[in-house]
Amino acid sequence: MKIVMCASEVVPFAKTGGLADVAGALPIALEKAGHEVIVIMPGYKAVYAKTALLIKNVRPGLSSAAIGKAVKVYFIDHDFYFNRDALYGDKAGDYIDNIDRFSFFCRRTLDLLKEIDFKADIIHCHDWQSAMVPVYLKSMTYSTDPFYKTMRTVFTIHNIGYQGLFNKNEFPKLGLAWNFFGVESLEYYEQVNFLKGGIVFSDVINTVSDTYSKEIRTSEFGFGMEGILDKRKDSLFGIINGLDYSIWDPAADNFIAAKFSAKDPAGKSVCKEDLQKICKFPLKKNVPLVGVVSRLAQQKGFDIVAEGIDKMCKMDLQMVILGTGDEKYHKIMESMVKKYPKVISLHLKFDDTLAHKIYAGSDIFLMPSRYEPCGLGQMISMKYGALPLVFKTGGLADTVDASNGFIFDKYSSEELLKTVKKALQAYQSPEKWKKLVDKAIKCDFSWLVSAKKYVQLYENARNRS
Ligand code: ADP
Repeated sequence: MKIVMCASEVVPFAKTGGLADVAGALPIALEKAGHEVIVIMPGYKAVYAKTALLIKNVRPGLSSAAIGKAVKVYFIDHDFYFNRDALYGDKAGDYIDNIDRFSFFCRRTLDLLKEIDFKADIIHCHDWQSAMVPVYLKSMTYSTDPFYKTMRTVFTIHNIGYQGLFNKNEFPKLGLAWNFFGVESLEYYEQVNFLKGGIVFSDVINTVSDTYSKEIRTSEFGFGMEGILDKRKDSLFGIINGLDYSIWDPAADNFIAAKFSAKDPAGKSVCKEDLQKICKFPLKKNVPLVGVVSRLAQQKGFDIVAEGIDKMCKMDLQMVILGTGDEKYHKIMESMVKKYPKVISLHLKFDDTLAHKIYAGSDIFLMPSRYEPCGLGQMISMKYGALPLVFKTGGLADTVDASNGFIFDKYSSEELLKTVKKALQAYQSPEKWKKLVDKAIKCDFSWLVSAKKYVQLYENARNRS
């Protein structure tokens, strides 16, 4: 099959979250399975800042590089739109011209396919930033151009909380007829909603876990999209993300202090000591080390973590937090560091190396997300022998159970604290702990399995008229 992966962030070129991991790894897995894949993303400033990546300018407005064996990655260049410090916004909030930036990206994506004569079977779009591709494909000149006629679209929702909402006044910028602005189309309460466009106009929709695909059809998790998703329930699927084990494997990880594996786990204690040193913690072997690598946001469970953190710091544990997010949570955690400097260590930044060291050095990985479309953190932590402690939702519910981690099913700080206590108790029983770690380390979330499911989904989309 000829497949286009269209995404606003792709590892190793630009990343703010899990979407980038998927958009970087899935094309390579598809290539391995014998498909012809290209990737299209914006050419941000960050992409060109990484000089180690071999990026060639093809012509004005277009650059390219390669991943995997020969997957071509095309960068849509636009100095004004994409040569900025961040991907979507700065401290002041989202960039005010995101509607221009990402509608431009989507239209250029479709134009590019014709320019390079890539007659795709499937255009696989991700999240609101590329959600206008399916809309444009069924409108403007694309809908009548024979070149695009057999192309089908798959739209993956990585997080329904981010929808790309814009003022109705800006609708004309999209170049679409007003009949595309309506409740059956792009309108959402007098606003333009890109994500909704993707849901309505794509051939097949999926989310990144089975449980999340069901949750988003309810008002609790649907962020207003539950109605339209329920209408499209026959076209809505769930495929858990794979994990890129070429990046996340403690047996071959150059970022960590000592390599280890299920067969040879001795290096893990070296990694723990290394992490304790980084955190300036007492070098105690028998105190469980709790790691967090996460956005500091309510979605990630920081409301209940913040509520329970003082009590947690009084328990017999050490805790390291890496991440940035809401100022409110930065402050709360900073005050905890002042109060319990030997117990909690805070790193308010994005730091890949430290992330690897935390997965490798922790005993428990705390990820009590209120909702979690898939979640990579828990899968990574399992591979590194850090047992995930999670709330039962979305992808967390699909990957963690009592045999490989700790899971609670009522979202509250009391339940969180109870579960932390349970984990600390289990840690005191080395035999029990070893069994859990062994099961976790052996979990296989490889892309091969998920890529196969995507191929089935693409076949499904191709069979739609
Ligand atoms: P999200 O909702 O943020 O996409 P995921 O769990 O799906 O959550 O993916 C998060 C990814 O980003 C993981 O690979 C995680 O290790 C990484 N990550 C998150 N915060 C940081 C950080 N501050 N520094 C380094 N890596 C981070």
